[in-house]
Amino acid sequence: MTHSRKIVKISPGLAASDGAGVKLTRYIGAPDIDMLDPFLLLDRFASDNPDDYLGGFPEHPHRGFETVTYILAGRMRHKDNAGHEGVINPGDVQWMTAGRGIIHSEMPEQTDGLLEGFQLWVNLAAQDKMTAPAYHEYPAAAIPEENHDQYVTVKVISGQTDHGTKGAVTAASDNPLFLDVTLKAGGSFHQSIPADHNGFIMVIDGVVQADGAGPELGARELGILGDGDYVTLTSKGGDSRFLVIAGRRLNEPVARSGPFVMNTKDQVMQAYQDYRTGKF
Ligand code: FE
Repeated sequence: MTHSRKIVKISPGLAASDGAGVKLTRYIGAPDIDMLDPFLLLDRFASDNPDDYLGGFPEHPHRGFETVTYILAGRMRHKDNAGHEGVINPGDVQWMTAGRGIIHSEMPEQTDGLLEGFQLWVNLAAQDKMTAPAYHEYPAAAIPEENHDQYVTVKVISGQTDHGTKGAVTAASDNPLFLDVTLKAGGSFHQSIPADHNGFIMVIDGVVQADGAGPELGARELGILGDGDYVTLTSKGGDSRFLVIAGRRLNEPVARSGPFVMNTKDQVMQAYQDYRTGKF
């Protein structure tokens, strides 16, 4: 039996500020969508006003999950206390496993112009939360691109498409599906998403519909996918571009406070203590 997923909830996101005053829109990790197991947070930043991003995200810790940064415009510099440093440019992906603890900064590598991108937090299973921290950069040129027909172009960042293309990211704990799809008007995109996964669509441009029916998802809207094992997406009225993101549910208790996401409150308190006492 196969069952087509429909969009069951739409969120326009919530205006928020994080780091040293970076203006962003929070879609997951906000009152509207607290979390979507295994996804803990999704932020979109997009501004050509330097006042909205210049402060960046100075040194801060993380423990217990992975952060994925995907840049559409502009440049960001990452630096961490495990000795990793690098600049990501448009189309590049940064995949960081915080694991047992990392302290990093994420700063814009520009003083004017447009800075646009996404940051996603992917939870780690209890058994992986205290794994060694890791950092990987995937330049745009290393991300496989799939062209199904004259309508569909897919950048395969992580996971595997129905056409068999494997994503650039292989270092993640459970390699969630992370696709950047460009769909010309009149085309449709079909992708398997196993029933034990949660998934969502984040529209960058245009209007998208799932399952040939139901609500239409507009630019800068996030749509949560309901139950099923595949999704079929069509572009309504013009071309569209959207992210398709899905991951296996962990079904574990979540205790979170700021930059630490663990399974119990005690583990979160321990994270604060370890950070304060220089154990990261
Ligand atoms: Fe961070």
